[in-house]
Order: sequence, then C-alpha cells, then structure tokens
Amino acid sequence: MRIAVGGIEHETCGFAAPSPTAEVTTLMSVARTLKYGEELRSLGDANTIVDGLVRGVRESGHELVPLLWIDANTSPPVSRESLESAIEDLLDRLRQSLPVDGVLLSLHGAFAAEGVDDADGEVLSRVRELVGPQVPVMAVHDLHCNISPVMEQAATVMVVERTYPHIDMAERARHAAQIMARTVTGQIRPTMAVRYLPLLWSAARMIDAEPPMSDAVRKLRELDQRPGVLSASIGVGYQWIDNPTVGTSVIVVTDNDDALARSYADELAEWVWERRSQWQRDPLTPESALAQGEQLGRFPIILAEQGDNTGGGAAGDATELLRLLIEQKLVPSAVLYMVDPDVAAQAISAGVGAEIDILIGGKSQPLVGPPVPMRVRVRGISDGRFIYDGPMWAGVVGEMGPSAWLEQDGVHVVVISDRHQPIDLAFCRSLGLDCRQMRYLAIKSTGHFRSGFAPIAGSIFNVDTASTLSHDFRRLPYTRLGRKMYPIDPNVEWNP
Ligand SMILES: [Zn+2]
Repeated sequence: MRIAVGGIEHETCGFAAPSPTAEVTTLMSVARTLKYGEELRSLGDANTIVDGLVRGVRESGHELVPLLWIDANTSPPVSRESLESAIEDLLDRLRQSLPVDGVLLSLHGAFAAEGVDDADGEVLSRVRELVGPQVPVMAVHDLHCNISPVMEQAATVMVVERTYPHIDMAERARHAAQIMARTVTGQIRPTMAVRYLPLLWSAARMIDAEPPMSDAVRKLRELDQRPGVLSASIGVGYQWIDNPTVGTSVIVVTDNDDALARSYADELAEWVWERRSQWQRDPLTPESALAQGEQLGRFPIILAEQGDNTGGGAAGDATELLRLLIEQKLVPSAVLYMVDPDVAAQAISAGVGAEIDILIGGKSQPLVGPPVPMRVRVRGISDGRFIYDGPMWAGVVGEMGPSAWLEQDGVHVVVISDRHQPIDLAFCRSLGLDCRQMRYLAIKSTGHFRSGFAPIAGSIFNVDTASTLSHDFRRLPYTRLGRKMYPIDPNVEWNP
C-alpha cells in the first residue's frame, strides 16, 4: 500500500511583535526545516513527528510516498499567499503521486495565516478534497494544538503528543503510522470523537514529569488499554492568539465503534473539566521564586521566564531577570538566551577576550525593557550552528545566528541573533560555557528547556515577568474567542 507523508508545521503567535528583519511574515521567512520529495527518505532517526512518520511507514512495510516538510519557528500570522503556496506545493506533490492509500500529515494544530484562523483545517480540508472521502487522512499534532471542527471533519484520525517537553514526538507519530498501516490493510476501521472544552490551560501545569499533568498522561494510558480504543489524546491548546479555535480538546479513536468513541470522549472531557482548577497556576514573581529556591537550598535555581519564551513567539529580549541578577549580585549566573543581533555582532567584531560596553536587550518593545548597560568580557563567539544532544532534539541541527558568550562579574549572558529557546546544554557547551557551574540560570523557555536542563537543576520555577506572552489569561487582549472561557470566566459551564 502507498502511504503519503508530509508536514506543514507552524505555531502562530498573535500577541508577539514581528521580527524586525521581516515586514511581512512568510512561511519561508520563518522556516527552519525545508525538505522536499525524495529528501524525506533520509529521515527516520531524529525525534520529530515527520521522522516518526517516515520510520513508522518503513517499519510497517508499506511504500513511503514522500511529499514535503516545512517546519517553521513560531511567529506572527504568515501571509495568505505563503500559506496558499505551501498548500499548493503539498497538493501538487500529492496529485502527482495519486493514487495513494493513505495520507499522514504532521500539522502543529495552532497555525494561522492573515485572514485564516484555522490554517491546519485549511490544509486538512484541501487534502481531503483531493483524495476523496474513502482515503484515510491522519494527522499528528503538537501538544499545544487548538483543534477545530473543520479539522475533525477532514481528518480520519488525529493524534496529539502527550509530553512537555515534547520528547514523544517520534513515538506519537509512529503510533499514528501504525494505525494507518492497520487501516489501509482493512484490519481496523477508525472512528473518532472530539470534544471541545472552554478551558485555557496554564503552561506551568502541562509539564508531564510532575502532577497534575502526569495524572492526565496516566489517564490517557489507561484509556489506551481499553478494548476497542485505538488512540486517546488531550490537546492543551495554544493561548497566545485571538481566534475562535483557541482552547482545550480531547480526542478518542476507536475501532469501528462510534458510540464507544463518543462515550469515552465524554468521559475524558469530563475528567479534564472536573479538574479545571488544577490546570491553572497563579503568577509567580522572580523574587518569590528566588526566596523559595534559596530556602530549598538546591542549586542551580532555574528561573524559567515563560512570558519571554521565544519558542512561544516572544522576542526573547526581556531584561527584568538580567537586571535582577546584576542588582542582587546573584552569581555565578547565566541568562539564556538574550536575542540581540546588534550586541552579538558587536561582540563578534571585538573578538574573544575583548572588553566592550554594550546596551543589551529590551529593544523589541517598551514593555520588555529597558535595555541594560553592561561592560562585558567576550568569552566565546559562534556562528550559531551546533547539534542538539538532549532527549528532545538529539541530532537536530541548531541555527542561532551570530552568537556570543559574555560575562560581567559572574553574570553570564549568551546572546544570539535568531529567536530560539534553550532546549539542552549543547549550544552553551559549544561556546565554552558550562551551565552546571552556575548557581542561578534565567532561561527564556516554558517547558522544553527541561529536556536538557532538568537533570542539572537544583530547583525549577516558572516565573512571570514584564514580557509579551503573559500567562495570566485575564491580561491577554482576547476579543474573538467566541465563547466564555475558564478561568477568565470562573463560572463558565460545560456539559458533554
Ligand atoms: Zn508545543
């Protein structure tokens, strides 16, 4: 059987400032991986969804029909034209490959373009239209997906990641590929039920290594074991965009038993809804996190600056934590990573060992500033290329752009040019900075940094600072959600 594999992956942030280098954001201007046709055949080993799909099809013994893979960094909505050209490219390749027996797609699930709230739904509908109603079309989504009825209508099966950091990307993709393999050979007939909850889920409560998220993963595993169940998922949503797709969803897929799928989806949705207060966390200031950390006495204390998470679309140049480290002489400490191309260029031109005066960060918008004057020694420089080695992205090539390791009296800053979050220790190590020697680490990430940093952490606190991606949902400028949402409206009701 011939199984087509492709992916268009983009998480779209509606509340972040656009990159200063791009006036119009296009999918290509923010793409980090582009692979076309036969190039996909070399995949299979890295921990990405598309690698997992390729490997899963290969393991099933079916014929791989490679389409394309566009993986983009989180950014503001991309232009309508760039969405259209990506979809047309995907459809052209699929059209030329027909007939196929199944289509497997990696779609983030929180993709929007200018004037298109539900770009993933658009991709799925157009693929469905091309292959017709009989060919199974299955999609694998990021944990931070906003599932829509349009996606539900077009897809035969949707599978969502369960872990944060997303270390199960390839595993969940192989799971979808296995469902596809059994479907195309007629061994099973998937039926899917989706429930949509008016619930905004705090990122600090999505970390699967600890309760309550570990309970949710356990609940999903328990559902996996029930007779007739093929797949069970929770999409915790992506909240930094203002459109009607935003929210939590649950998905249950059974073998040819619609009533069972609906009843288990109701059960899972109710299970999540009953615990809605558990998925929330009040804001935590860096000062109170530090006080708690000092009391615990386990170092390094990691302050995860979730509101300036470049992985979520922030500019990565908020300065509150850097100022705190300097003012309170919290050393040795490091800020990872400050996105400031001007300072990176200045450091590179001065060279390793030079002492320079800089004005760093706080430049993307007034809220995240002010910029911080420092006299730093340049300890290391890099073109920004390295290979990740932590469990989430081992083997994936990183491109931070021109970068430098700077130090002022025990306060270290790794400055980079492109917007990326710390995932593991590999990049700092490539510059010469050993994060394990630090007593305090200020990391611009919400959850993925745990992939590499949890093993060296003494204690970890997700903190709230003056930054773009507020985790206090009441402060986000929503006007288009189209329904009341918990916890903004604490009395909102939901019934299956
Ligand atoms: Zn995610």
